[in-house]
Amino acid sequence: MPKRVHLHDKAFKVFIEEKEILIKIESIAKQINEDYSHTEPLFLIVLKGAFMFGSELVSRYQGHCHLGFVNIKSYQGMKSTGNVQVSGLDPDIVKGREVIILEDIVDSGRTLYKFLPILNEMQPANVQIATLLYKPDAMKFHVPVNYSCFDIPNDFVIGFGLDYDGLGRNYRDIYQLAADS
Ligand code: 5GP
Ligand code: MG
Repeated sequence: MPKRVHLHDKAFKVFIEEKEILIKIESIAKQINEDYSHTEPLFLIVLKGAFMFGSELVSRYQGHCHLGFVNIKSYQGMKSTGNVQVSGLDPDIVKGREVIILEDIVDSGRTLYKFLPILNEMQPANVQIATLLYKPDAMKFHVPVNYSCFDIPNDFVIGFGLDYDGLGRNYRDIYQLAADS
């Protein structure tokens, strides 16, 4: 994979390599496996950003589990908007289940903060959050992050599912905005 990529008007440099990402995902999958051995959890993949993280994590889960997808949109360009749109979630798969939300990144926390009450209306047995990336310094809306692969500084990142205005989701390394960009 290239050390530097250009998307639209910006340059990005490699930040976390695929090998390191997969080692972390493997260890989180193992931990969730132990924590959920009593049940058949529902993994809820937040689209589009968590498609790759979700796929890598769920395919490393050894027990029985269910899979769901939800579309949550809040970002435009490099800014999170106050307007969070939720679609595509079937309430029947949530009811009574132990849910693990799989997110690409928790930034301000706003997206999940707005989504959790909507999910709770569907009467899950309980809900936890697993995220590939977490920016603890950016959190403004408190949500419990139960599993995080990487706690990162407050810089814009792309790759491994994350985009900049539609591009960059396909890279298997994670890139961060270059200082000269
Ligand atoms: P929050 O609502 O926590 O502020 O932001 C969560 C959503 O914003 C994430 O699911 C992700 O789609 C997007 N997001 C937040 N930070 C970044 C970032 O650094 N890069 C990209 N590509 N998306 C981000
Ligand atoms: Mg997202």
